[in-house]
Amino acid sequence: MTNIEQNNFKSPFYTCFSCRSIHTNLQDLLFVEENSAKGFCKEECIEDFYRPLLKHYEKLEETLRINFHLEDETVLLGISEEEAMARLIAAPDEIWRLTNDLSEEIYSYIKVINRAFYIVLCTSYKNEPSYIFLTTKTNEQKMLDAFRIGEKVSVEVSVSRDLEEVIERKKSEILARLLEVSVFDEFSEDIPMDQYILYHDLVGPTMEDADEIYEYKDKHGDLLVTYTKSFKRNEEAIFYLVICLKDDSLSLKNLSNEIDSMTSDDERLQNSMTIFPIFSFPTRLGSVYKEFKQGKLLSGHLSN
Ligand SMILES: [Zn+2]
Repeated sequence: MTNIEQNNFKSPFYTCFSCRSIHTNLQDLLFVEENSAKGFCKEECIEDFYRPLLKHYEKLEETLRINFHLEDETVLLGISEEEAMARLIAAPDEIWRLTNDLSEEIYSYIKVINRAFYIVLCTSYKNEPSYIFLTTKTNEQKMLDAFRIGEKVSVEVSVSRDLEEVIERKKSEILARLLEVSVFDEFSEDIPMDQYILYHDLVGPTMEDADEIYEYKDKHGDLLVTYTKSFKRNEEAIFYLVICLKDDSLSLKNLSNEIDSMTSDDERLQNSMTIFPIFSFPTRLGSVYKEFKQGKLLSGHLSN
């Protein structure tokens, strides 16, 4: 805020684009758009400012779906929203940019995941989705075309592509191990894999408020972090596990709020690290839970 003593007509200052508060230090403002003077003094001001746009885009999508008769389209990505977002950021298939006459830019990031289109409408900052107006998924080409806005921006083939491969490879390794420890036959007491999707809502709560967090190096020397939490579902106790890849070699940021909010205390020390969810699953079996809670306990109580 302004300090009247130090301030005079000659000192430059900056105003929050939302609440109009005055700041002498540019570092006090947050930016979510590239090449833009729109600075905000706090998260709340960002939310306040963009809320009408959020509503606008929501309404647009609603109308579009009514016109296309796609109001009740069910799209299964087979992965959680967090994972889809991480993969989209790591390696989008298409990026589109719509610029108005005031040079304000809206971006559309598109990724094909399990033969469905995952679409994020957003602002972009430092070449990544920044403020997200809308995320949607569709199986319909015409719906996808509606999000190919403005001009196509070339997707840089960068280290991100490698990252996606690494994530895919780790995922298969974890899956293979899971199949090894948990017998999925007709006598299995564990939750069948085809029901994992019903538990995806537990990813956020597990990462935000884990009972335990473990870190270990896998055989390739990569750091994996496992978040575990127990839940009660349909009257039965289950464990939920989220396994993530921790990476410091890439300049990518995690965007998911769930992941961000976890970035406190212990994690703050390693702030430069990026965390990508690789695989998450529920289990009824203590043996499976024990098999996967390995490595160094970063947070939580020591259990036997
Ligand atoms: Zn403000």
